[in-house]
Amino acid sequence: AKMQGGGHHLLYNVDMGLQLQRRIAVAARLEKALAVGRLTQHYQPKVVLDTGQLCGVEALARWHDEEWGWVSPAEFIHVAEERGLIIALGDWSLDTAARQWRAWHDAGVTPPTTIAVNVSAAQMMSDGFAERALAIVRAHNVSPLAIELEITESALMHEPAKARRVAARLVERGFTLSIDDFGTGYSSLARLQNFPVSRLKIDMSFVQGMTTNPDSLAIVTAVIGLARALQLRTVAEGVESQDQIDKLRSLQCDMAQGYFFAKALPAADLERDWLSRPSR
Ligand code: C2E
Ligand code: CA
Ligand code: CA
Ligand code: CA
Repeated sequence: AKMQGGGHHLLYNVDMGLQLQRRIAVAARLEKALAVGRLTQHYQPKVVLDTGQLCGVEALARWHDEEWGWVSPAEFIHVAEERGLIIALGDWSLDTAARQWRAWHDAGVTPPTTIAVNVSAAQMMSDGFAERALAIVRAHNVSPLAIELEITESALMHEPAKARRVAARLVERGFTLSIDDFGTGYSSLARLQNFPVSRLKIDMSFVQGMTTNPDSLAIVTAVIGLARALQLRTVAEGVESQDQIDKLRSLQCDMAQGYFFAKALPAADLERDWLSRPSR
């Protein structure tokens, strides 16, 4: 038994070592990929639930490594956060979104009303973020009004006083703020009203659980009710079925995003299927 226990322990350590090695390797290749411009950005439609009309997109980072193939954002974003690359990656995401807005506009294509960019806690709390974000979008001659910043509930609640100041600065400069993955952060709901946010994105775990799990349905119902009371718009994430859409409509959720409508698409595909060229 002793030997078995020891063996188990050894395996556990080997596995941990491999995980650490993998993360170090991912960080090194990610840093290189960023430097040489190998990351791309895809865009997932957000639609108005009542009309099905496009009301914005979410920009999502994609990475295809020559040897490894596609690396999941869940993995490389986590590694970037852990190994000090998330500010560079996040600034790249904002820059890329603004550049794409400008490219669509200059090509005579109507850009989505807003392009939403994910902002990590470390990026939001980094020195001078609001000024830097403004400089990045302005460098492409894009208004912050066209850019929505998605910040997770846990990022806001970690250092709430500082987060509130940064959020206020961003809003002063014209950015729209959304709370991402809402419902997962166990924040005090009362605190929400201290943040100048415009939208709540209901985490997909609740949206997907809603039609089978009464607790999930109760949470979605409460979040939409709370949002209404605070005059925030609601976006349901991870919508995959007509059942979910019917339920969300009956609860008066405003917007939805999910594979039912579209997955995140390369810019050219979004343009072809979702954006229009005004007739000239
Ligand atoms: P997120 O912000 O919660 O983004 C939504 C994720 O759900 C995306 O995964 C999207 O592809 C996926 N998704 C959308 N609709 C559906 C659906 O109907 N069903 C299912 N099962 N999934 C759906 P993705 O692209 O793998 O991104 C994962 C996470 O990585 C994002 O979660 C976000 O937190 C982070 N991320 C991605 N790009 C960036 C970035 O540029 N900066 C930062 N800071 N984080 C990013
Ligand atoms: Ca998001
Ligand atoms: Ca989310
Ligand atoms: Ca998420």
